[in-house]
Amino acid sequence: MSGACARPLADADLLDWWAGELPAAEGRRVEEHLLSCGECSSRAEAVHEMAKGIGQLVREGALPIAVLPAIVERLRREGRRIREYQVRPGGGVQCTVGPEDDVVLARLLADLRDVSRLDLVSRVDDGPEDRLTDIPFDAATGEVVFAPSADVLRARPAHVERFRLLAVGRQGERLLGEYTFDHRPWPGW
Ligand SMILES: [Zn+2]
Repeated sequence: MSGACARPLADADLLDWWAGELPAAEGRRVEEHLLSCGECSSRAEAVHEMAKGIGQLVREGALPIAVLPAIVERLRREGRRIREYQVRPGGGVQCTVGPEDDVVLARLLADLRDVSRLDLVSRVDDGPEDRLTDIPFDAATGEVVFAPSADVLRARPAHVERFRLLAVGRQGERLLGEYTFDHRPWPGW
């Protein structure tokens, strides 16, 4: 998620700009930059798509998506009820989702330095593997934040979901970590 722009606009500013929440002078600064910077313009589009996706997900439960830190910040600011689980490579966690939770976040810790493309492979119990390719991440944070649909999770029985994070490059794939989520329906175990 880096490139030729010398002073890329912050994800948080782009989100606020889309929401019309930037002060006028700040808004003009963002617009002027976007007019002259193709790279930030396409990032602005991606950030907007992601924010819309989250809105959808919070309302009706769409497909799981990876989210950038700025989106998580925004959800907090909006007062969403967030349940989150942070897991280290090779680690696991017992997880659930409460009746009032708006968003469930899986925070997968990983060393993301020198990673250009990141794929996430998931598998529920003995089912087939699902692969999300080229998922968004912020290498500086050292984690990939992933938001499965809270509604879909609430409807599901106990299960074990395993995730693998893969760095994909010219030389092939490199495993960054495996993470196990042992899910039980509310009210728990
Ligand atoms: Zn730029």
